[in-house]
Amino acid sequence: MFSAGCNPRVPRRVFLIAPAALGGWLALLWRRDRSIPDALAPGTGRRIRVVLFRNDGTRGETVEVNKIVKSDEEWRRELSPDEFAVTRQKGTERAFTGRYWDHHEPGVYRCACCGTALFRSEEKFESGSGWPSFWAPAAAENVATEEDDSLFMRRTEVLCARCDAHLGHVFPDGPEPTGLRYCINSAALRFAPGK
Ligand code: FE
Repeated sequence: MFSAGCNPRVPRRVFLIAPAALGGWLALLWRRDRSIPDALAPGTGRRIRVVLFRNDGTRGETVEVNKIVKSDEEWRRELSPDEFAVTRQKGTERAFTGRYWDHHEPGVYRCACCGTALFRSEEKFESGSGWPSFWAPAAAENVATEEDDSLFMRRTEVLCARCDAHLGHVFPDGPEPTGLRYCINSAALRFAPGK
């Protein structure tokens, strides 16, 4: 009995199908990594006001929208495992491993779950922490904060105001003009290039 790998009679089509399957799998990963949810998709939660931004960072109008409310199962289907662990289970990616800690292009960092504009490249700075860091959100309306007493520390958690995704924490040791450091997980963000 030969194993499939040694059998000279393995049908030719296996070698044709395998690369196609791999290509499809890679395409799926690519799409998951790159697609940005529609920030104006309808929601079912309570009404809130958020500020729209163009990808070049310019501020648009303030609109009233319903919050996005989905089950964990729905989120799990739409997000990568890393994105789900961070945004829906309040996980933290390891420093210096995320897709944006060393990312410097102009554009807008949108919520990986709902597409809301959260941060802009203009407010990004080098904190040396290994996580993307900003001294302000794109708009105060677009993020929410909550006191977090987990891990024996008092920290201020930062969330997406539209879908309650966990983003990271904000600390009072940032640069001027705010003195704040929004320490954000890359997995909670999807970058929309400005040009
Ligand atoms: Fe969101």
